[in-house]
Amino acid sequence: MQGQGAEVVICGAGIAGIAAAYHLAVRRGVSGVVLVDPQPPMSVTSDKSTECYRNWWPGPGDAMVGLMNRSIDLLETLARQSDNVFHLNRRGYAYATANPARAQQLERVSAEISALGAGPLRRHTGGPGASPYVPSPAEGFEGQPTGADLLIDGALIRRHFPYLSERTLAVLHPRRCGWFSAQQYGMYMLEEARARGARLIQGRVEGVEVAGGRVRAVRVAEAGGASLVWTPTLINAAGPWLGEMGRMIGVELPVFSELHLKVAFRDDRRAIPRDAPLLIWADPQRLVWSDEERALLAESPETERLLAEMPDGVHARPEGRGDSTTVLLLWPYHTPPVEPIFLPPLDVAYAEVVLRGMATMIPALAGYLDRLPRAIVDGGYYTKTRENRPLIGPMPVGGAFVIGALSGFGQMASGAAGELVAAHVTGGELPAYAPAFRLDRYQDPAYRALLDAWGASGQL
Ligand SMILES: Cc1cc2nc3c(=O)[nH]c(=O)nc-3n(C[C@H](O)[C@H](O)[C@H](O)COP(=O)(O)OP(=O)(O)OC[C@H]3O[C@@H](n4cnc5c(N)ncnc54)[C@H](O)[C@@H]3O)c2cc1C
Repeated sequence: MQGQGAEVVICGAGIAGIAAAYHLAVRRGVSGVVLVDPQPPMSVTSDKSTECYRNWWPGPGDAMVGLMNRSIDLLETLARQSDNVFHLNRRGYAYATANPARAQQLERVSAEISALGAGPLRRHTGGPGASPYVPSPAEGFEGQPTGADLLIDGALIRRHFPYLSERTLAVLHPRRCGWFSAQQYGMYMLEEARARGARLIQGRVEGVEVAGGRVRAVRVAEAGGASLVWTPTLINAAGPWLGEMGRMIGVELPVFSELHLKVAFRDDRRAIPRDAPLLIWADPQRLVWSDEERALLAESPETERLLAEMPDGVHARPEGRGDSTTVLLLWPYHTPPVEPIFLPPLDVAYAEVVLRGMATMIPALAGYLDRLPRAIVDGGYYTKTRENRPLIGPMPVGGAFVIGALSGFGQMASGAAGELVAAHVTGGELPAYAPAFRLDRYQDPAYRALLDAWGASGQL
């Protein structure tokens, strides 16, 4: 079998593998970085995302806020350096509720998140002397506040968010959040890494040779046949196939995958303003169906769940610039663990269900329900750990590392995650949040006890 050498082989050229390659080749000057993937870069999960980012993360502990703050610092640095080639904005996320108890909960959880380092919480009551609420600009990211604004005055909410349901009682608007073109962000990092010598091999890693407890070579199946890449360092960035890749070196990774779908359609009625932030309905809801529809849905257990209470979290945002009328809608209402396959199966009913759910928050969307617009549905896998925190760091085989379990936050976390795995590989200084993402955290009995308590409180 032919052989070639590499300092580091990265299995997977999604955003995780590319960010790792960027930080190794560009920021740490490592030569001989090779990315291996049978698919084109950024084409499996990493081009299916909603491309949003936020530093607004709950605890316990400040590790997620720390990781995301660092990742957003890196995003902003690359945006400045590239003349914002990936259109980073700072519109924020707007969580809305019509439930007084939920409004109180939003405020309580926000105070906790603020205290973890996500920035100050500003309450806007609309009363005399109350601090003014400053809306976010549609484009650009400089000079914007951090933290969050909590609007709890009806008149203020209607002035700034006239398109939301008139039942809305509170809007929480975290501000170090927004979106960007993740595809262009990834390709920018990839080009920078290639300019520093990183290479891409189109092939599938099908085996890893380990000798004396250390990685020695990677077996790659390419169109022209199999080859060996001799390397002392392997980074597992295989996304939904993280577990399969782990098993190639005899390591069982504690991950599972859920299928998450997304809808895009042309909002020619302009129900969602083009300058809106990411809009999230924070309440569970029951969808409205006619008697005939109810009878039909009740016929199958697959569709019967649409008659029950549906979870909170349906969300939407405008997509594209200039004349674009495209909007993106998502609602993870049914996401059991599944075996990942490429290409993932798509649910034809999804578009209508999400549109109905989103119409609860933005009533003008109900105008589409008589005649559904032509929608494009796509999706990919959230690969997760039990507590929905990533795996970044060494694996228990010498020279093997992992960057993955990036769930629904892989784009926003990629900068700091790539930087962190590169620091592990090169023996660099590690940030305070590093231990929270290592694989060996599960060996700590105190951490396992925390996870059990977490699970019992329903927060996982
Ligand atoms: C609907 C949806 C919405 C999302 N919204 C957001 C969002 O708003 N913000 C955000 O930050 N994140 C979001 N995400 C999450 C984000 O897209 C993912 O976390 C991220 O793309 C994962 O990147 P990855 O590189 O780990 O995986 P992938 O992009 O899947 O890349 C893994 C790569 O590994 C390759 N591979 C696998 N096995 C092998 C092998 N044996 N040999 C060689 N290569 C292999 C695959 O071919 C693939 O190219 C969303 C995801 C989905 C599905």
